[in-house]
Amino acid sequence: MKVTRIQIAVRGLTNCCPNCGARTLFVPGAPFKVAAACTACGLKLEREEGSFLGAMSLNYGMTICLYLVPVLVAYLLGWLSGLAAAILAGMGAVGFPILFYRSSRSWWLMNYYLVLPQHLPANQRAVQPGEDFNT
Ligand SMILES: [Zn+2]
Repeated sequence: MKVTRIQIAVRGLTNCCPNCGARTLFVPGAPFKVAAACTACGLKLEREEGSFLGAMSLNYGMTICLYLVPVLVAYLLGWLSGLAAAILAGMGAVGFPILFYRSSRSWWLMNYYLVLPQHLPANQRAVQPGEDFNT
């Protein structure tokens, strides 16, 4: 396997193409638009309609876990007043998903290829004549 799972994870966490490592996941000048394909290696990034619904779910989950739960805990421990907690929660409920949008798209793509690294074009190879598929 040419691209290891560790490389896929590092590339995913840094918003890079999981196949070649280039910073080509997003259209230049359009920070919230995912490129249809990597301009460096041609990896198809928009796999199918709705394939990034998981990224949206990931974004919501991370917003809750990394932002809203700590605000709630701070409120419950008495570190924040109710009004301050409500204002922070409202601002975070809108702001955190926007700030985390690019990472959620990249992380979702990373998750797919962490589970199925053999689907990366860099990891595919031609089957040799007479080769057993189980080897
Ligand atoms: Zn690429």
